[in-house]
Formats: sequence, structure tokens, C-alpha cells
Amino acid sequence: MKLCRFGDNRLGLVTGDQVRDVTAALDVLPTARYPYPQHDVLIANLPKLAARVGEIAGSAPVLTLKDCKLLTPVANAGKVVAAPVNYKKHLEEARSDPELHHQNQIAEIQRVGLFLKATSSVIGAGEEIVIRHPDRRTDHEIELAAVIGKTADKVTREQALDHIAGYCLGLDITVRGPEERSLRKSIDTYTVLGPWFITADEVGNASELDLELTVNGEPRQKANTRDLVIGIADLIVFASSFYTLHPGDVILTGTPEGVGPIKPGDTIDARITKVGAMQVKVRGA
Ligand code: MN
Repeated sequence: MKLCRFGDNRLGLVTGDQVRDVTAALDVLPTARYPYPQHDVLIANLPKLAARVGEIAGSAPVLTLKDCKLLTPVANAGKVVAAPVNYKKHLEEARSDPELHHQNQIAEIQRVGLFLKATSSVIGAGEEIVIRHPDRRTDHEIELAAVIGKTADKVTREQALDHIAGYCLGLDITVRGPEERSLRKSIDTYTVLGPWFITADEVGNASELDLELTVNGEPRQKANTRDLVIGIADLIVFASSFYTLHPGDVILTGTPEGVGPIKPGDTIDARITKVGAMQVKVRGA
């Protein structure tokens, strides 16, 4: 099942190039009072929600996908966990290019671990990346994003994949420079999730998916998730050994080689087999 959020916080079921407006299915979600849960309520109740979507989809209004302004498919991610230098060729690229490393020591992911991106940086594919520091190099990074479906605390490798609800495409937009990653990658609009959320059962084995990114039609990144240094299951083991992962937490699994600059006016096309494709515009502040 592919679920999108669009327009004025509407919920859509995506089939081909159509969207069925199944916003009414949100009525099955529990109501909450302050203090609100730290997880995403939709993802935490996905089986119940998906069942309701199935019941009402047949009579739901049908829209054309390209007419829908897509929002982030995960509205309330509690945290966005990200994996640095998790493709070997990207590690080599980052170490060899002064514009990428800025005299920072680029250590292997096994040493540097994971970092967090501010959830306030998250947008959907129908929104725009707003370049905040036009005087500095700002790069695209395509990544497979795994969405946690159930609470994961110190999980084993065997249990890890059972904790994934589904996937999206992720763009980890990055200002290059000497500061901490969490600062340079947490700028408003610098985490794009989309175009929709696809349930894990529809993707199957996520460890051999092709990723491809172009800017204005120019090829930049092309790789396969089989080349991840730390695979998806082990990223969940690693992350959950430090902190509890909650439903709706997003894990950006890392970007392959070919990162490059973007500027206002550019259009990024990002696609991952089985997951989907999205076109995202870049503009100035
Ligand atoms: Mn990244």
C-alpha cells in the first residue's frame, strides 16, 4: 500500500497515477491530549488505518497524482536518524575532495556512528528546498529512508527488519563546511521525504534497490543499496543499542557517491526501484 499526504493535510491512497482521497480513514486514529505522544500516531496505528483505507477506498474521491501537492508522508517523526558515509565509494569521495571534507576527519561509519537531523527540516516532495546560505556549497544526497513501525529497544539483527513499517525516498540536503553534521543538515526544508510511504510488504528485500538522482536531467548519483557499508538491519541494531526507536522514526540509510551542488532553479529527480520517484524543486530564500 502506498499512502501519501497532500494538499491541506489530506491522506491519499496512491494507485498508478491516481490518488484516492481517504482522509476519512484518519477517524480510526486515537485522539490525544497534551502531552502528545512522541511517536507518529498514523504509523503507530498503521494496521488499523490500512484496514479502514481498504474499506473506504472504493467510494473515495479520485484525484490525479500530479495535481496533488505532496507533503511529508510521515507527519510527526519523533527523530530523523541518519547514517554518514555509509557507501564505500562515497567515503573515498569525501576523503579525496577538500570541498566535501573541509579538514574534518572523515572516519568510517563504524567509528563515527549515527547523527540526528532536526525534525523541523522535513518537507514533502511537493514543497521546495529553500537554499538558506547561497554563498556556501549545498549538496544533494539521495538515500533510502526506512520508517520504524514499532518500538525498537536493543533489538537483535534477527528482529530488526520486523520493526520497519515501510519506506520512502529521502533527500539529505547538506551545507558543506566545518560545522557538525547535525547543524549543516538540519536547515528548514533540508530533509525531503516522499513521494509517499510504501509499506514494507510491497518492497520486499530492500537490500538490493537501485537509487538514481539527476539534477536538471544531468546524472549525478547511481548506486544500489547492496553496497551499503552497514545494512538496514544493522543500522536498526546500532541505533536501538543507543536509544529507543519509536513508530514514525525515520532512518536515512546514507548516500552513495556522486554528491554535488544544487542551486535555486534546479529540479532534482530522485528514484528508487519499487519505492517510487519524485521531482523536487530548489529555490532561493
Ligand atoms: Mn546523508
